[in-house]
Amino acid sequence: MPASPPPVVTRFAPSPTGELHVGGARTALFSWAYARRHGGQFLLRFEDTDQKRSSKQAEQNILRDLHWLGLTGDNEGEGIPRQSERLDLYHAALAKLKDAGHTYEDNGAVRFKMGQDVSFTDAVYGDVTVPGADLEDFVIQKADGFPTFHLAVVVDDADMHVTHVIRGQEHLANTPKHAALYDALGKPRPVWCHTPSIMNPDGSKMSKRDKAKAARKAAQDATLSQVQDVDQADLAAFLSKDNDSNDIAAAIATQLGLQLPEINVADFQHSGYTPAVLLNYLALLGWNPGDDVERFDLDFLAQHFDFDRIGKSNSKFDRDKLAAFSQDTILKLSPEQWATNLQAHFKDRFPAYVEKLGANFPVFAAAYQERSKTLNDPSVLGRFFVEAPTQYNAKAVKKNLNKNEGEGLKNLQSLRDLLAQQTDWTAQPLHAVIDGAWEALGGKNMGALAQPLRVALTGAAVSPEIGPTLEILGQTETLARIDACLLHCGS
Ligand code: GLU
Repeated sequence: MPASPPPVVTRFAPSPTGELHVGGARTALFSWAYARRHGGQFLLRFEDTDQKRSSKQAEQNILRDLHWLGLTGDNEGEGIPRQSERLDLYHAALAKLKDAGHTYEDNGAVRFKMGQDVSFTDAVYGDVTVPGADLEDFVIQKADGFPTFHLAVVVDDADMHVTHVIRGQEHLANTPKHAALYDALGKPRPVWCHTPSIMNPDGSKMSKRDKAKAARKAAQDATLSQVQDVDQADLAAFLSKDNDSNDIAAAIATQLGLQLPEINVADFQHSGYTPAVLLNYLALLGWNPGDDVERFDLDFLAQHFDFDRIGKSNSKFDRDKLAAFSQDTILKLSPEQWATNLQAHFKDRFPAYVEKLGANFPVFAAAYQERSKTLNDPSVLGRFFVEAPTQYNAKAVKKNLNKNEGEGLKNLQSLRDLLAQQTDWTAQPLHAVIDGAWEALGGKNMGALAQPLRVALTGAAVSPEIGPTLEILGQTETLARIDACLLHCGS
């Protein structure tokens, strides 16, 4: 009887040198899905052999973002292995390779001898053969005694019984080295699956440096010479491309009111995308389930994901499509679910709204469900709740206040007097006040009353229901905004 194949084991092995970016998240997603699909294991490992650039903080942030996406490693319970804590294993492998005559010393480093042609099969790119003449001997242990990525990744994957290595195609060129190491160590090679790169719409590779690039360009366009909280020398270095600091990029963006491109998973969360939407979109970058199916969840992916539908060509990251997915998802939520999701996001991102809106949060949420593409949008559309308007939309003023010899302004003044006398400042009675005033006007045109009030409160003619809006703003604030509007628009 033929031996049954070993159980599927995949892994995601980030280097904890920065935030989890979308390319890494997609690799993790595919690895997770492949393991689930085949009833196998999905493992995590931190590749921290570059000690200078690695940090525990980065590890924590990567884990935080994976968990936010709903991806957990099956080995998290027993502790995620770190390469820096497994040096004995690499030294043992090195000794074995040395004994078998595969290595030689070179300036304190140890090199692995190549020479033979290497062939391997990639699940996406097919059969690859690299002639020995094109393969250089490569370093497997640095002069500082640390293994290089090549040795560590092979030793670890073999030790963790990884059967399928799924990773970005930038590693395809490393794979002949890895194949040769497996062979020399007498370990069975895994299946390799390299995934195509994720590109910006302009054809450049989507990279963590894109934020710095965008900020640098904006700073140069605006001839910015000083940025708050940024040291002059650091800024100069940033502007002359000596560093790509994301902190400086963020400070420039704040100063210029600029939105930097989202690159990391945390950026998308910050911009108000939900994990479900981001995962769905990421899965479609390079893979599709066929039959024109586009919208699906993690369970679907766990049932359908396979290598045969991963394309070879690079995929473009289309932000409009992501936003359309997001809007479509928001529209399908029940008002209760939308309000709950929104409130959770706002608590974290825009706590001032949650405080101000109190029990009326669902009213606020309902007002913006149809017009929101992200969980952030209501913070822009409904900003007037936490900030009085500083200007008034000219069209709205003309139409709602100035037209018919200032009819709207007159109505606004009468309404102000009524509201000033109001003692019960809650939605229902406030609504009744406006209804009453409307009837007093002959009950002809509700717009001639509610719209001027909206302009005064918001600066434009759009707001949620007027009763709750008044209640949320409170009497003092409402009267102050009406007065400011009468003063500003009434001349
Ligand atoms: N630590 C490597 C990286 O972040 C992982 C390479 C691999 O998956 O083999 O690119």
